[in-house]
Amino acid sequence: MIDKDSWQENQQEHSKDALLRSMSDRDFELYIYSLRKMAENNMESNRTFMTELYNLRAFHYKTAELMLEHPQTKFAMIVLDFANFKSINEFCGRDVGDALLKCTADALREQKQMRDYVVLSHFRADIFGMFTPYETEDDLIAIVKQIDQRISDFKIPYKVLPAFGICVAESPTMSVSIMRDYATMALNTIKGKFYAKYAFFDEKMRSQMLLNKMIENDIVGALKEEQLHVYIQPKVDMSTRQIIGGEALIRWIHPERGLVTPNQFIPVLEKNGLIIDVDIYIWTRVFQFIGGRLRNGLPVVPISINISRTHVFDKAFRECLIQLSEDFKVPPSYVVLELTESGFLENESTMYENLKILRQYGFTLSMDDFGTGYSSMTMLKNQPVDEIKIDRGFILDIKNPKSQSILSHTIAMLHELEMDIIVEGVETKTQEAFLLKCDCHRAQGFLYYKPMPLAEFESLL
Ligand code: C2E
Ligand code: CA
Ligand code: CA
Repeated sequence: MIDKDSWQENQQEHSKDALLRSMSDRDFELYIYSLRKMAENNMESNRTFMTELYNLRAFHYKTAELMLEHPQTKFAMIVLDFANFKSINEFCGRDVGDALLKCTADALREQKQMRDYVVLSHFRADIFGMFTPYETEDDLIAIVKQIDQRISDFKIPYKVLPAFGICVAESPTMSVSIMRDYATMALNTIKGKFYAKYAFFDEKMRSQMLLNKMIENDIVGALKEEQLHVYIQPKVDMSTRQIIGGEALIRWIHPERGLVTPNQFIPVLEKNGLIIDVDIYIWTRVFQFIGGRLRNGLPVVPISINISRTHVFDKAFRECLIQLSEDFKVPPSYVVLELTESGFLENESTMYENLKILRQYGFTLSMDDFGTGYSSMTMLKNQPVDEIKIDRGFILDIKNPKSQSILSHTIAMLHELEMDIIVEGVETKTQEAFLLKCDCHRAQGFLYYKPMPLAEFESLL
Protein backbone atom coordinates (compact mmCIF):
# COMPACT_ATOMS: atom_id res chain seq x y z
CA MET A 1 0.00 0.00 0.00
CA ILE A 2 1.14 3.55 -0.64
CA ASP A 3 1.89 5.51 2.54
CA LYS A 4 1.98 9.23 2.87
CA ASP A 5 5.75 9.51 3.23
CA SER A 6 6.69 7.45 0.21
CA TRP A 7 4.01 9.14 -1.79
CA GLN A 8 5.50 12.48 -0.88
CA GLU A 9 8.96 11.30 -1.71
CA ASN A 10 7.86 10.59 -5.24
CA GLN A 11 6.33 13.94 -5.85
CA GLN A 12 8.58 16.32 -7.71
CA GLU A 13 6.52 19.42 -7.75
CA HIS A 14 6.93 21.72 -4.85
CA SER A 15 3.32 22.95 -4.87
CA LYS A 16 1.93 19.45 -4.49
CA ASP A 17 4.37 18.85 -1.69
CA ALA A 18 3.12 21.86 0.16
CA LEU A 19 -0.49 20.87 -0.36
CA LEU A 20 0.15 17.38 0.97
CA ARG A 21 1.94 18.63 4.05
CA SER A 22 -1.07 20.70 4.89
CA MET A 23 -3.39 17.66 4.74
CA SER A 24 -4.34 15.57 7.71
CA ASP A 25 -3.82 11.79 7.38
CA ARG A 26 -7.55 11.38 6.90
CA ASP A 27 -7.58 13.91 4.06
CA PHE A 28 -4.60 12.17 2.51
CA GLU A 29 -6.40 8.82 2.50
CA LEU A 30 -9.44 10.42 0.90
CA TYR A 31 -7.21 12.02 -1.71
CA ILE A 32 -5.59 8.67 -2.61
CA TYR A 33 -9.01 7.01 -2.62
CA SER A 34 -10.37 9.50 -5.12
CA LEU A 35 -7.27 9.14 -7.30
CA ARG A 36 -7.74 5.40 -7.37
CA LYS A 37 -11.45 5.69 -8.17
CA MET A 38 -10.60 8.00 -11.03
CA ALA A 39 -8.07 5.50 -12.33
CA GLU A 40 -10.59 2.68 -12.01
CA ASN A 41 -13.29 4.58 -13.84
CA ASN A 42 -10.78 5.34 -16.47
CA MET A 43 -9.98 1.66 -16.60
CA GLU A 44 -13.57 0.73 -17.30
CA SER A 45 -13.25 2.68 -20.51
CA ASN A 46 -9.94 0.92 -21.09
CA ARG A 47 -11.60 -2.34 -21.95
CA THR A 48 -11.14 -3.89 -25.33
CA PHE A 49 -14.34 -3.45 -27.27
CA MET A 50 -14.77 -6.99 -28.54
CA THR A 51 -13.88 -9.13 -25.54
CA GLU A 52 -14.52 -6.70 -22.69
CA LEU A 53 -11.13 -7.48 -21.19
CA TYR A 54 -8.64 -4.84 -20.08
CA ASN A 55 -6.38 -3.40 -22.71
CA LEU A 56 -2.64 -3.47 -22.28
CA ARG A 57 -2.33 -0.21 -20.36
CA ALA A 58 -5.01 -1.06 -17.82
CA PHE A 59 -3.55 -4.56 -17.45
CA HIS A 60 -0.12 -3.14 -16.65
CA TYR A 61 -1.50 -0.77 -14.08
CA LYS A 62 -3.63 -3.41 -12.35
CA THR A 63 -0.92 -6.06 -12.20
CA ALA A 64 1.76 -3.71 -10.88
CA GLU A 65 -0.61 -2.57 -8.16
CA LEU A 66 -1.58 -6.13 -7.18
CA MET A 67 2.02 -7.22 -6.83
CA LEU A 68 2.79 -4.28 -4.56
CA GLU A 69 -0.29 -4.82 -2.46
CA HIS A 70 0.38 -8.55 -1.98
CA PRO A 71 4.14 -8.88 -1.71
CA GLN A 72 3.87 -12.32 -0.06
CA THR A 73 1.81 -13.83 -2.87
CA LYS A 74 3.44 -15.66 -5.77
CA PHE A 75 2.26 -14.33 -9.11
CA ALA A 76 2.79 -15.37 -12.73
CA MET A 77 1.99 -13.96 -16.12
CA ILE A 78 0.61 -16.11 -18.90
CA VAL A 79 0.57 -14.86 -22.48
CA LEU A 80 -1.62 -16.64 -25.00
CA ASP A 81 -1.22 -16.35 -28.75
CA PHE A 82 -2.59 -18.36 -31.67
CA ALA A 83 -0.05 -19.73 -34.12
CA ASN A 84 -2.43 -19.67 -37.05
CA PHE A 85 -5.09 -17.08 -36.36
CA LYS A 86 -4.62 -15.45 -39.75
CA SER A 87 -5.43 -18.70 -41.50
CA ILE A 88 -8.50 -19.19 -39.31
CA ASN A 89 -9.76 -15.75 -40.36
CA GLU A 90 -9.04 -16.48 -43.99
CA PHE A 91 -10.38 -19.99 -44.00
CA CYS A 92 -13.44 -19.68 -41.73
CA GLY A 93 -14.22 -15.98 -42.06
CA ARG A 94 -13.79 -13.05 -39.70
CA ASP A 95 -17.02 -13.77 -37.81
CA VAL A 96 -15.73 -17.15 -36.77
CA GLY A 97 -12.37 -15.58 -35.88
CA ASP A 98 -14.16 -13.04 -33.68
CA ALA A 99 -16.24 -15.76 -32.04
CA LEU A 100 -13.05 -17.66 -31.25
CA LEU A 101 -11.60 -14.56 -29.57
CA LYS A 102 -14.77 -14.18 -27.49
CA CYS A 103 -14.61 -17.84 -26.53
CA THR A 104 -11.01 -17.33 -25.44
CA ALA A 105 -12.02 -14.35 -23.32
CA ASP A 106 -14.76 -16.48 -21.71
CA ALA A 107 -12.27 -19.25 -20.99
CA LEU A 108 -10.04 -16.69 -19.25
CA ARG A 109 -12.98 -15.24 -17.30
CA GLU A 110 -13.79 -18.72 -16.00
CA GLN A 111 -10.33 -18.80 -14.48
CA LYS A 112 -10.86 -15.43 -12.87
CA GLN A 113 -14.04 -16.70 -11.21
CA MET A 114 -12.09 -19.50 -9.57
CA ARG A 115 -9.64 -17.37 -7.61
CA ASP A 116 -8.92 -13.85 -6.38
CA TYR A 117 -6.38 -11.40 -7.75
CA VAL A 118 -6.60 -12.48 -11.38
CA VAL A 119 -6.19 -9.80 -14.06
CA LEU A 120 -7.08 -10.46 -17.67
CA SER A 121 -6.26 -8.62 -20.83
CA HIS A 122 -6.81 -8.73 -24.54
CA PHE A 123 -3.53 -7.14 -25.56
CA ARG A 124 -4.26 -6.90 -29.26
CA ALA A 125 -5.41 -8.97 -32.24
CA ASP A 126 -5.17 -12.60 -31.10
CA ILE A 127 -2.93 -12.07 -28.08
CA PHE A 128 -4.21 -12.34 -24.51
CA GLY A 129 -2.65 -11.99 -21.09
CA MET A 130 -3.52 -13.43 -17.72
CA PHE A 131 -1.95 -12.46 -14.43
CA THR A 132 -2.64 -14.92 -11.67
CA PRO A 133 -1.52 -16.02 -8.22
CA TYR A 134 -0.19 -19.59 -7.96
CA GLU A 135 1.40 -21.98 -5.48
CA THR A 136 3.30 -24.43 -7.67
CA GLU A 137 4.18 -24.62 -11.34
CA ASP A 138 1.67 -27.44 -11.64
CA ASP A 139 -1.09 -24.95 -10.78
CA LEU A 140 -0.07 -22.87 -13.77
CA ILE A 141 0.09 -25.89 -16.04
CA ALA A 142 -3.42 -26.86 -14.90
CA ILE A 143 -4.73 -23.37 -15.71
CA VAL A 144 -3.20 -23.48 -19.18
CA LYS A 145 -4.64 -26.93 -19.84
CA GLN A 146 -8.12 -25.85 -18.78
CA ILE A 147 -8.04 -22.80 -21.04
CA ASP A 148 -6.69 -24.89 -23.87
CA GLN A 149 -9.48 -27.44 -23.39
CA ARG A 150 -12.16 -24.73 -23.50
CA ILE A 151 -10.68 -23.37 -26.71
CA SER A 152 -10.49 -26.76 -28.36
CA ASP A 153 -14.17 -27.34 -27.45
CA PHE A 154 -14.95 -24.42 -29.75
CA LYS A 155 -16.00 -26.27 -32.86
CA ILE A 156 -14.67 -24.95 -36.13
CA PRO A 157 -13.52 -26.81 -39.22
CA TYR A 158 -9.91 -25.83 -38.62
CA LYS A 159 -7.21 -26.85 -36.18
CA VAL A 160 -6.83 -24.09 -33.61
CA LEU A 161 -3.30 -23.80 -32.21
CA PRO A 162 -3.11 -21.68 -29.07
CA ALA A 163 0.30 -21.44 -27.38
CA PHE A 164 1.05 -20.23 -23.86
CA GLY A 165 4.17 -18.55 -22.53
CA ILE A 166 4.57 -18.32 -18.76
CA CYS A 167 6.78 -16.08 -16.66
CA VAL A 168 6.72 -16.17 -12.87
CA ALA A 169 7.28 -12.91 -11.01
CA GLU A 170 10.69 -12.80 -9.33
CA SER A 171 9.75 -10.02 -6.93
CA PRO A 172 6.80 -7.70 -6.24
CA THR A 173 8.63 -4.90 -8.03
CA MET A 174 9.44 -6.83 -11.18
CA SER A 175 8.55 -4.76 -14.23
CA VAL A 176 5.29 -5.88 -15.80
CA SER A 177 6.49 -5.19 -19.32
CA ILE A 178 9.59 -7.30 -18.73
CA MET A 179 7.41 -10.13 -17.46
CA ARG A 180 5.34 -9.81 -20.59
CA ASP A 181 8.47 -9.85 -22.77
CA TYR A 182 9.76 -12.95 -21.01
CA ALA A 183 6.45 -14.76 -21.28
CA THR A 184 6.28 -13.83 -24.96
CA MET A 185 9.82 -15.06 -25.47
CA ALA A 186 8.91 -18.40 -23.90
CA LEU A 187 5.82 -18.54 -26.09
CA ASN A 188 7.81 -17.92 -29.25
CA THR A 189 9.95 -20.97 -28.57
CA ILE A 190 6.92 -23.23 -29.08
CA LYS A 191 4.54 -21.25 -31.27
CA GLY A 192 3.22 -23.40 -34.10
CA LYS A 193 4.66 -26.62 -32.72
CA PHE A 194 1.91 -29.20 -32.40
CA TYR A 195 3.58 -31.14 -29.64
CA ALA A 196 4.09 -28.25 -27.21
CA LYS A 197 1.33 -26.20 -25.63
CA TYR A 198 3.18 -24.09 -23.11
CA ALA A 199 6.67 -23.00 -22.13
CA PHE A 200 8.06 -21.38 -19.00
CA PHE A 201 10.63 -18.62 -19.21
CA ASP A 202 13.69 -20.30 -17.71
CA GLU A 203 17.40 -19.88 -17.06
CA LYS A 204 18.36 -21.14 -20.50
CA MET A 205 16.16 -18.54 -22.14
CA ARG A 206 17.55 -15.87 -19.87
CA SER A 207 21.15 -16.63 -20.81
CA GLN A 208 20.15 -16.88 -24.47
CA MET A 209 18.49 -13.49 -24.14
CA LEU A 210 21.55 -11.96 -22.50
CA LEU A 211 23.74 -13.43 -25.21
CA ASN A 212 21.44 -12.01 -27.90
CA LYS A 213 21.58 -8.60 -26.24
CA MET A 214 25.37 -8.78 -26.10
CA ILE A 215 25.47 -9.70 -29.79
CA GLU A 216 23.20 -6.82 -30.77
CA ASN A 217 25.20 -4.37 -28.69
CA ASP A 218 28.67 -5.51 -29.65
CA ILE A 219 28.43 -6.48 -33.31
CA VAL A 220 28.89 -2.99 -34.73
CA GLY A 221 32.04 -2.51 -32.65
CA ALA A 222 33.19 -5.98 -33.66
CA LEU A 223 33.03 -4.98 -37.31
CA LYS A 224 35.00 -1.79 -36.68
CA GLU A 225 37.57 -3.38 -34.41
CA GLU A 226 38.23 -6.33 -36.67
CA GLN A 227 37.03 -8.96 -34.22
CA LEU A 228 35.39 -10.82 -37.11
CA HIS A 229 37.66 -13.19 -38.97
CA VAL A 230 37.39 -15.31 -42.07
CA TYR A 231 38.23 -18.96 -41.62
CA ILE A 232 38.38 -21.32 -44.55
CA GLN A 233 37.48 -24.98 -44.51
CA PRO A 234 39.09 -26.78 -47.47
CA LYS A 235 36.97 -28.96 -49.76
CA VAL A 236 38.65 -32.07 -51.07
CA ASP A 237 38.44 -34.67 -53.77
CA MET A 238 38.15 -37.81 -51.66
CA SER A 239 39.82 -40.07 -54.21
CA THR A 240 42.97 -37.96 -54.46
CA ARG A 241 42.75 -35.92 -51.21
CA GLN A 242 43.51 -32.87 -53.30
CA ILE A 243 42.14 -29.50 -52.20
CA ILE A 244 39.57 -28.42 -54.78
CA GLY A 245 38.12 -25.38 -53.03
CA GLY A 246 37.17 -23.90 -49.70
CA GLU A 247 34.28 -22.44 -47.78
CA ALA A 248 34.59 -19.11 -45.97
CA LEU A 249 33.19 -19.36 -42.45
CA ILE A 250 32.96 -16.45 -40.10
CA ARG A 251 34.56 -16.47 -36.63
CA TRP A 252 33.96 -13.84 -33.96
CA ILE A 253 36.72 -13.55 -31.39
CA HIS A 254 35.11 -11.43 -28.70
CA PRO A 255 37.60 -9.62 -26.41
CA GLU A 256 35.84 -10.83 -23.24
CA ARG A 257 33.87 -13.89 -24.26
CA GLY A 258 36.37 -15.49 -26.59
CA LEU A 259 34.97 -17.42 -29.53
CA VAL A 260 31.31 -16.80 -30.32
CA THR A 261 30.10 -19.37 -32.86
CA PRO A 262 28.16 -18.42 -36.00
CA ASN A 263 25.25 -20.58 -34.89
CA GLN A 264 24.98 -18.32 -31.84
CA PHE A 265 25.13 -14.96 -33.55
CA ILE A 266 23.99 -15.38 -37.18
CA PRO A 267 20.32 -16.03 -36.25
CA VAL A 268 20.30 -12.84 -34.12
CA LEU A 269 21.78 -10.80 -36.96
CA GLU A 270 19.33 -12.28 -39.43
CA LYS A 271 16.51 -11.03 -37.25
CA ASN A 272 17.76 -7.47 -36.91
CA GLY A 273 19.11 -7.19 -40.46
CA LEU A 274 22.73 -6.61 -39.46
CA ILE A 275 23.67 -9.83 -41.23
CA ILE A 276 23.76 -7.76 -44.43
CA ASP A 277 26.75 -5.73 -43.19
CA VAL A 278 28.48 -8.74 -41.69
CA ASP A 279 28.11 -10.83 -44.84
CA ILE A 280 29.39 -8.02 -47.03
CA TYR A 281 32.39 -7.68 -44.72
CA ILE A 282 33.21 -11.39 -45.11
CA TRP A 283 32.60 -11.38 -48.87
CA THR A 284 34.91 -8.40 -49.25
CA ARG A 285 37.67 -10.23 -47.39
CA VAL A 286 37.24 -13.26 -49.63
CA PHE A 287 37.33 -11.27 -52.88
CA GLN A 288 40.34 -9.37 -51.56
CA PHE A 289 42.08 -12.66 -50.75
CA ILE A 290 41.46 -14.28 -54.14
CA GLY A 291 42.24 -11.04 -55.99
CA GLY A 292 45.54 -10.67 -54.13
CA ARG A 293 46.64 -14.19 -54.99
CA LEU A 294 45.68 -13.80 -58.64
CA ARG A 295 47.67 -10.55 -58.84
CA ASN A 296 50.71 -12.29 -57.41
CA GLY A 297 50.37 -15.23 -59.79
CA LEU A 298 49.69 -17.69 -56.96
CA PRO A 299 47.48 -20.77 -57.34
CA VAL A 300 43.80 -20.21 -56.57
CA VAL A 301 40.82 -22.47 -55.86
CA PRO A 302 37.15 -21.42 -55.84
CA ILE A 303 35.93 -20.25 -52.45
CA SER A 304 32.31 -20.49 -51.29
CA ILE A 305 30.69 -17.65 -49.44
CA ASN A 306 27.50 -17.98 -47.44
CA ILE A 307 24.58 -15.81 -48.47
CA SER A 308 21.98 -15.30 -45.80
CA ARG A 309 18.45 -15.57 -47.14
CA THR A 310 17.82 -12.04 -45.89
CA HIS A 311 19.72 -10.81 -48.97
CA VAL A 312 17.97 -12.60 -51.73
CA PHE A 313 14.94 -10.34 -51.86
CA ASP A 314 17.14 -7.31 -52.28
CA LYS A 315 18.50 -6.21 -55.64
CA ALA A 316 21.45 -4.53 -53.91
CA PHE A 317 22.94 -7.90 -53.06
CA ARG A 318 23.53 -8.93 -56.66
CA GLU A 319 24.94 -5.50 -57.51
CA CYS A 320 27.27 -5.75 -54.51
CA LEU A 321 28.66 -9.13 -55.62
CA ILE A 322 29.19 -7.98 -59.18
CA GLN A 323 30.88 -4.82 -57.91
CA LEU A 324 33.22 -6.82 -55.65
CA SER A 325 34.13 -9.07 -58.54
CA GLU A 326 35.05 -6.01 -60.63
CA ASP A 327 36.80 -4.06 -57.87
CA PHE A 328 39.09 -6.91 -56.91
CA LYS A 329 39.40 -8.26 -60.48
CA VAL A 330 38.18 -11.70 -59.45
CA PRO A 331 36.50 -13.72 -62.23
CA PRO A 332 33.13 -14.89 -60.83
CA SER A 333 34.02 -18.51 -61.55
CA TYR A 334 36.28 -18.35 -58.48
CA VAL A 335 33.37 -17.63 -56.16
CA VAL A 336 30.60 -20.04 -55.21
CA LEU A 337 27.45 -18.63 -53.64
CA GLU A 338 26.00 -20.91 -50.98
CA LEU A 339 22.35 -20.40 -50.18
CA THR A 340 20.30 -22.66 -47.98
CA GLU A 341 17.32 -24.47 -49.43
CA SER A 342 14.91 -21.97 -47.92
CA GLY A 343 16.68 -19.15 -49.82
CA PHE A 344 15.90 -20.90 -53.07
CA LEU A 345 12.48 -22.06 -52.07
CA GLU A 346 10.76 -18.76 -51.59
CA ASN A 347 8.32 -18.23 -54.39
CA GLU A 348 9.64 -14.80 -55.07
CA SER A 349 10.37 -13.26 -58.42
CA THR A 350 13.06 -10.87 -57.10
CA MET A 351 14.96 -13.78 -55.64
CA TYR A 352 14.65 -15.79 -58.81
CA GLU A 353 15.71 -12.81 -60.92
CA ASN A 354 18.71 -12.07 -58.68
CA LEU A 355 20.00 -15.62 -58.75
CA LYS A 356 19.49 -15.96 -62.49
CA ILE A 357 21.45 -12.78 -63.20
CA LEU A 358 24.29 -13.77 -60.87
CA ARG A 359 24.50 -17.15 -62.52
CA GLN A 360 24.52 -15.63 -65.99
CA TYR A 361 27.30 -13.32 -64.83
CA GLY A 362 29.36 -16.40 -64.02
CA PHE A 363 28.95 -17.17 -60.32
CA THR A 364 28.32 -20.77 -59.30
CA LEU A 365 25.20 -21.29 -57.21
CA SER A 366 25.20 -23.94 -54.53
CA MET A 367 22.22 -25.15 -52.53
CA ASP A 368 23.45 -25.53 -48.95
CA ASP A 369 22.12 -27.91 -46.28
CA PHE A 370 20.25 -29.92 -48.89
CA GLY A 371 17.75 -32.27 -47.27
CA THR A 372 17.11 -30.26 -44.11
CA GLY A 373 14.39 -27.95 -45.40
CA TYR A 374 11.08 -28.57 -47.01
CA SER A 375 12.19 -28.75 -50.61
CA SER A 376 10.54 -31.24 -52.85
CA MET A 377 12.60 -33.01 -55.43
CA THR A 378 10.56 -31.48 -58.24
CA MET A 379 11.62 -27.96 -57.32
CA LEU A 380 15.18 -28.82 -58.29
CA LYS A 381 14.28 -28.70 -61.94
CA ASN A 382 13.08 -25.10 -61.74
CA GLN A 383 15.83 -23.49 -59.70
CA PRO A 384 18.92 -21.71 -60.99
CA VAL A 385 21.35 -23.99 -59.20
CA ASP A 386 24.64 -25.67 -60.16
CA GLU A 387 25.70 -27.54 -57.07
CA ILE A 388 23.95 -29.41 -54.30
CA LYS A 389 25.60 -29.53 -50.92
CA ILE A 390 24.26 -32.58 -49.12
CA ASP A 391 23.79 -31.96 -45.41
CA ARG A 392 25.73 -33.99 -42.91
CA GLY A 393 22.42 -35.29 -41.52
CA PHE A 394 22.31 -37.67 -44.51
CA ILE A 395 25.55 -39.41 -43.57
CA LEU A 396 25.28 -39.40 -39.78
CA ASP A 397 24.09 -43.00 -39.44
CA ILE A 398 25.60 -44.30 -42.64
CA LYS A 399 25.70 -47.85 -41.24
CA ASN A 400 21.90 -47.99 -41.29
CA PRO A 401 20.80 -49.74 -44.54
CA LYS A 402 17.85 -47.35 -44.91
CA SER A 403 20.15 -44.31 -44.71
CA GLN A 404 22.38 -45.93 -47.30
CA SER A 405 19.46 -46.44 -49.61
CA ILE A 406 18.25 -42.84 -49.26
CA LEU A 407 21.73 -41.45 -49.82
CA SER A 408 22.65 -43.62 -52.80
CA HIS A 409 19.36 -42.90 -54.55
CA THR A 410 19.60 -39.18 -53.86
CA ILE A 411 23.09 -39.07 -55.30
CA ALA A 412 22.01 -41.08 -58.34
CA MET A 413 19.11 -38.73 -58.96
CA LEU A 414 21.31 -35.63 -58.64
CA HIS A 415 23.79 -37.18 -61.07
CA GLU A 416 20.98 -37.71 -63.52
CA LEU A 417 19.93 -34.08 -63.15
CA GLU A 418 23.56 -33.20 -63.92
CA MET A 419 24.06 -31.36 -60.66
CA ASP A 420 27.47 -31.09 -59.02
CA ILE A 421 27.44 -32.75 -55.62
CA ILE A 422 29.42 -32.13 -52.48
CA VAL A 423 28.82 -33.77 -49.13
CA GLU A 424 29.51 -31.90 -45.93
CA GLY A 425 30.42 -33.15 -42.49
CA VAL A 426 32.43 -36.20 -43.53
CA GLU A 427 34.10 -37.42 -40.36
CA THR A 428 34.80 -41.12 -40.83
CA LYS A 429 36.44 -43.51 -43.26
CA THR A 430 33.18 -45.49 -43.44
CA GLN A 431 31.33 -42.43 -44.71
CA GLU A 432 34.08 -41.75 -47.22
CA ALA A 433 34.08 -45.32 -48.52
CA PHE A 434 30.31 -45.35 -48.98
CA LEU A 435 30.29 -42.01 -50.81
CA LEU A 436 33.05 -43.14 -53.16
CA LYS A 437 31.05 -46.30 -53.85
CA CYS A 438 28.16 -44.03 -54.90
CA ASP A 439 30.52 -42.25 -57.27
CA CYS A 440 30.46 -39.09 -55.20
CA HIS A 441 33.95 -37.63 -54.89
CA ARG A 442 33.73 -34.17 -53.39
CA ALA A 443 33.54 -33.58 -49.68
CA GLN A 444 34.15 -31.18 -46.84
CA GLY A 445 34.61 -32.42 -43.31
CA PHE A 446 36.70 -32.87 -40.21
CA LEU A 447 38.13 -36.11 -41.63
CA TYR A 448 40.20 -33.86 -43.90
CA TYR A 449 40.39 -30.36 -42.48
CA LYS A 450 38.71 -28.17 -39.91
CA PRO A 451 38.03 -24.51 -40.70
CA MET A 452 41.34 -22.61 -40.39
CA PRO A 453 42.60 -19.02 -40.51
CA LEU A 454 43.27 -17.58 -43.98
CA ALA A 455 47.04 -17.65 -43.53
CA GLU A 456 46.99 -21.36 -42.70
CA PHE A 457 44.83 -22.07 -45.72
CA GLU A 458 47.28 -20.13 -47.90
CA SER A 459 50.18 -22.23 -46.75
CA LEU A 460 48.20 -25.37 -47.71
CA LEU A 461 47.71 -24.05 -51.22
P1 C2E B 1 27.21 -24.21 -43.02
O1 C2E B 1 27.20 -23.22 -44.13
O2 C2E B 1 26.44 -25.46 -43.23
O3 C2E B 1 28.73 -24.50 -42.73
C1 C2E B 1 29.23 -25.77 -42.39
C2 C2E B 1 29.35 -25.93 -40.91
O4 C2E B 1 29.66 -27.26 -40.61
C3 C2E B 1 30.51 -25.09 -40.34
O5 C2E B 1 30.12 -24.69 -39.03
C4 C2E B 1 31.62 -26.12 -40.25
O6 C2E B 1 32.60 -25.82 -39.28
C5 C2E B 1 30.84 -27.35 -39.86
N1 C2E B 1 31.52 -28.59 -40.26
C6 C2E B 1 32.31 -28.80 -41.32
N2 C2E B 1 32.75 -30.07 -41.35
C7 C2E B 1 32.23 -30.69 -40.29
C8 C2E B 1 32.30 -32.02 -39.76
O7 C2E B 1 32.97 -32.91 -40.29
N3 C2E B 1 31.59 -32.29 -38.63
C9 C2E B 1 30.86 -31.34 -38.00
N4 C2E B 1 30.22 -31.68 -36.90
N5 C2E B 1 30.76 -30.08 -38.47
C10 C2E B 1 31.44 -29.75 -39.60
P2 C2E B 1 30.30 -23.20 -38.53
O8 C2E B 1 31.55 -22.60 -39.09
O9 C2E B 1 30.09 -23.22 -37.07
O10 C2E B 1 29.11 -22.43 -39.23
C11 C2E B 1 27.79 -22.70 -38.90
C12 C2E B 1 26.84 -22.04 -39.85
O11 C2E B 1 26.88 -20.61 -39.72
C13 C2E B 1 27.16 -22.29 -41.30
O12 C2E B 1 26.66 -23.54 -41.68
C14 C2E B 1 26.45 -21.15 -41.98
O13 C2E B 1 25.09 -21.42 -42.12
C15 C2E B 1 26.61 -20.04 -40.97
N6 C2E B 1 27.71 -19.16 -41.39
C16 C2E B 1 29.04 -19.27 -41.18
N7 C2E B 1 29.70 -18.22 -41.70
C17 C2E B 1 28.78 -17.41 -42.27
C18 C2E B 1 28.83 -16.15 -42.98
O14 C2E B 1 29.88 -15.55 -43.23
N8 C2E B 1 27.64 -15.64 -43.40
C19 C2E B 1 26.46 -16.27 -43.18
N9 C2E B 1 25.32 -15.72 -43.62
N10 C2E B 1 26.38 -17.45 -42.53
C20 C2E B 1 27.52 -18.00 -42.08
CA1 CA C 1 27.60 -23.11 -46.15
CA1 CA D 1 25.81 -26.55 -44.86
